Amino acid sequence: MVELKPIGIKKNIALIAHDNLKDTMVNWCIKNKHILEKHMLCGTGTTAKRINQETGLNVYGYNSGPLGGDQQVGCRIAEGLIDMVIFFSDPLSAHPHDPDVKALLRLAQVFDIPMANSEATADFLITSPYMETEYTRNIMNIKL
Ligand code: PGA
Repeated sequence: MVELKPIGIKKNIALIAHDNLKDTMVNWCIKNKHILEKHMLCGTGTTAKRINQETGLNVYGYNSGPLGGDQQVGCRIAEGLIDMVIFFSDPLSAHPHDPDVKALLRLAQVFDIPMANSEATADFLITSPYMETEYTRNIMNIKL
């Protein structure tokens, strides 16, 4: 079983954006580059590629979302390898991989991962004092 540690000062942050919100994500990353560059970044395939190309940030890319990328991020959360998720999901479009997105949301809750699903929430998260300190999560059923 994975040993779940507190969220460290240097955080592993996953970045995901649905197609209609990819420009928003790129611009948000540019705005917050001075903070994001202090952390480890990863993301679903197309989102990661666009951030890499358009911001110069180094983002490890998993598969594209519809090809399992959201599930890969969820898996890393369960393994204790991702500390925070910024997911600009599109509430106005249907997606074939909606079950994967729901699964990711669920695991983020189970493992008490800070997760933003809108730009305003992401702004609040990225400016939190916890970005520069350790944080001990309250993980459900950790004794199971
Ligand atoms: P993408 O996946 O970054 O590969 O476009 C995001 C998603 O649709 O969940």
